[in-house]
Amino acid sequence: MDFTALTHACTLIALSYMALKIRNLLVIERLQALAVPLLTGAASIVMMLLPLSGDSLFSDLKFAPIVMAGLRFGWLSSLLSTLLPAGYMLLEHKPDWGIEAVQSLLLPAIISSLFHRKEYDSGYAFIRLIDGWSVCAILTVVRVVSHVQLETAQTSLFWLSQLLMLVFSGLAIMALIYMFNDENKIWIVQRKLELEAKQDNLTRLPNLRGFMDIAKRTVRSRRIAIMMIDIDNFKRYNDTFGHLHGDQLLREAGQLLKTAVHEQDYIARYGGEEFIILSHMTDETQLSHYADWLRHNIEDHRFYGDSVAGTTISIGISISRMPGDELRRLIAEADEALYVSKQSGKNRYSFYRADQTQQKNA
Ligand code: GH3
Ligand code: MG
Ligand code: MG
Repeated sequence: MDFTALTHACTLIALSYMALKIRNLLVIERLQALAVPLLTGAASIVMMLLPLSGDSLFSDLKFAPIVMAGLRFGWLSSLLSTLLPAGYMLLEHKPDWGIEAVQSLLLPAIISSLFHRKEYDSGYAFIRLIDGWSVCAILTVVRVVSHVQLETAQTSLFWLSQLLMLVFSGLAIMALIYMFNDENKIWIVQRKLELEAKQDNLTRLPNLRGFMDIAKRTVRSRRIAIMMIDIDNFKRYNDTFGHLHGDQLLREAGQLLKTAVHEQDYIARYGGEEFIILSHMTDETQLSHYADWLRHNIEDHRFYGDSVAGTTISIGISISRMPGDELRRLIAEADEALYVSKQSGKNRYSFYRADQTQQKNA
C-alpha cells in the first residue's frame, strides 16, 4: 500500500495549522501581511522536500499553500508566496524547473486569486468550498492540456493519476479551507466579544473602557479637550415617568449627542446619565459654540413627557495644555467644571480654570 498521499496531506494540514497560529500571534497588521508570503512559501518548500516514490501516481502538493494564499489574500500575496519556492527550485537545479514553477506555483497563484473575493479582506467572510474545487479543477485541466500537447500517447495510467490528483488535491484544499474558516469563526467571535466589552448595552455608545483605550492613545500625541455632560434633574424624570422612560431618554439623548459631535471627536457613556466627549478642538471660542450646539440639540428635542420635564444638559470642559497631559486629571478637571455648571443653575457649560472654575453661558 502506498501512503505517500496521506503523509503529504497530513503534513500540509499540520503546516497550515501552525501557519494560522503564528499569524494570529502577530498583532501588527503589516507584520501579518509579510508573514503570509513567508509562511506560505516555506510550507510550499516543505511539501517539495517530502519524498515521493518513483512510480507514485501523485505529484507533491507544493501548490496547495499558494492556492490558499490566493483565495484568502488575493494576487499580491499569492505571487509573493511563489518567490521562496521558485528560488528553492532554481537553487536545487531541478529539471525543467521553469515549466514546473509556472505550472505548480505561478498558475495556482493566478487562478486562485481570480476566486479571491473582496469580502475576505475584512476577515468577516468565509471562503467558499466550491471555489477551492473550481481552482483544483482548472489546474487539472491546464495540466492535462499541456501534457497532451507535449506527448502523443496517453496511457490509462496517466488519466488515472490525473483523476486521483484532482480528487486528492481537492480534498486537501477542502481541509485547508475548512481550517481557515474555522479559525475565522473564532476570530469573529473574539472581535464581537471585544466590541461588546467596550460598548454600553443601553445606549449602544462606547462605554468608559472603550473610551479610555482611545483617549489614552490620543492624549499622548496631541492636545485635546474633554467634555463631561450630565442630564439635568434626571432623578426627577425617572420618578415622574418611570425608569423605562428614563432608559428611553438616555438612549435618545445618546443618539442625539452622537449625531451632533464632530466627525473626529469621540463620545461615550461615562455611566448613569453622564456622557463624555473627547474633542480634537482646543480653542475656547470654538468649544463654546460646540457646547452650545450640543446643549441646544438636547433642549430642542421633544423627549417623552417633555411638556412637563423640559430636558436639558450641563457641560464641564477641560483643555489639555500640551500633548502627553494626564487623561485622568483632565477628566477630573472637566468634572469640576461640570459641578460649577450645576451649582450655577444647570443647562450651561463651564471651562475648568486652574485658579477658579469660570462659568459661562446661561
Ligand atoms: P443633576 O441635575 O444635579 O444632575 O440631578 P440628577 O437628578 O440628574 O442627578 P442624580 O445624580 O441625583 O441622579 C441621577 C439619576 O440617574 C439617579 C439614577 O437612578 C439615574 N440613573 C442612572 N443610570 C440610569 C439608567 O441606566 N437608567 C435610568 N432610567 N436611570 C438611571
Ligand atoms: Mg450625574
Ligand atoms: Mg444629572
